Amino acid sequence: MNFCRCHKIAMTCGNCGKVKITFHPYNLLALEIPVRQTSGSDQLSITLEECFTETFQAKEGAWSCDHCLKLAMKKLDIWTTPDILIIQLKRPHLYRTGQGSMPIDYPVEGLDLMGKVGLSEDKELVYDLFATINYTYDNPRKGIYTAFAKNFIDKQWYRYDGMCYHLSYAICADDS
Ligand SMILES: [Zn+2]
Repeated sequence: MNFCRCHKIAMTCGNCGKVKITFHPYNLLALEIPVRQTSGSDQLSITLEECFTETFQAKEGAWSCDHCLKLAMKKLDIWTTPDILIIQLKRPHLYRTGQGSMPIDYPVEGLDLMGKVGLSEDKELVYDLFATINYTYDNPRKGIYTAFAKNFIDKQWYRYDGMCYHLSYAICADDS
């Protein structure tokens, strides 16, 4: 069983055409949450699929070409996946836009990464959720962590707040 796998990063220079590919290990998959451009949007949540699209689209940026030093395009991809996949949803930037409490919809069962992974290694790429860590804060310096976790014996979800745990109805497969 492993937790750490690789990203593929491709830098493509639009000036000289040079392409540089590197592989970097990750132990959690950090996904960017897209910012809604229109304040009048009536969309009440963001899907995990939108987060994948935001994170793995090609981006112009401060990536200098090794050859001509011009800015290059950067494309991040998932190259391989671990047996236990940890996803981090990067939310802090949303607080500056007033969208910090925007819910993220994600599948409790059957998150299928087929088509999102460069090297499947002949293994199934479907993941079921069994725990979440939640950080809640009024300001970035002071907050609390709580967690939801599925008990594999009674199949129920429990909420843990550091002091005690409670049976939770906030997560169930029927809501996915
Ligand atoms: Zn170049």
